[in-house]
Amino acid sequence: MELKYTSIILSKYDISETDRIYDFYTKEDGRIRAIGRGVRKAKAKLAGNLESLTLADVFISKNRGMGNITGVIPLDGFISAKTDLVAIDNIFFALSYFDKLITGEEKDEKIFLLLLEYFRVINELSQEKKSEQKAETITLGFLFNLAGMLGYKIITEYCVNCEQKICSGNNNFFSAKRGGVLCASCAKLKTENIQNSDSCIKLIRIFSKNKIGSFSKLRVPKKDIAGLKLIWRELFNWIHD
Ligand SMILES: [Zn+2]
Repeated sequence: MELKYTSIILSKYDISETDRIYDFYTKEDGRIRAIGRGVRKAKAKLAGNLESLTLADVFISKNRGMGNITGVIPLDGFISAKTDLVAIDNIFFALSYFDKLITGEEKDEKIFLLLLEYFRVINELSQEKKSEQKAETITLGFLFNLAGMLGYKIITEYCVNCEQKICSGNNNFFSAKRGGVLCASCAKLKTENIQNSDSCIKLIRIFSKNKIGSFSKLRVPKKDIAGLKLIWRELFNWIHD
């Protein structure tokens, strides 16, 4: 049986002198792997259309076990992003987490669309030669939204311990274990927190309420990028443990 998958090609690795396994995130079935037979031969037609970080319609014939790739129609190669070192660095940073958070073959069209939107926005940004901070903001926004879709949306409106409204200007903290922000007085009683800045809380709020495309309009100072990365790492470690 041959099936068509609208896929983002994530990675590939060689398994023999002629064959390669490809890793896809598909609209139809979530994350899947398939074998490209003969793709390592010099005249293989399939290989050129199976570059990593490409959106493509991939045809896979399935019997038992892993399917065989029988055809590919490339739809978007995200060429600007691929030739931009900042974009590539950011994409690999994002995919290193995506790889660990999304492991099973489970359909989730929302995640497919989020990943596709991320690639499109990063690609557009590369064409415009925008700053490194914008690429980092978009990447962090993508990761926080991905966590939200997986059920780890960070609570920023009220303290996750005493439930009082979080006021900006106060010394608020983030607790991955509790999935949100702790007010200054509650933070004193806990040990697992990392310091948080109000601007980071605001940004996480903006991320959760808007599309990735709008994140390139944000002007995020370097110290907030660093703060968001700290919070992200804390959250990821908590999810991944
Ligand atoms: Zn509190």
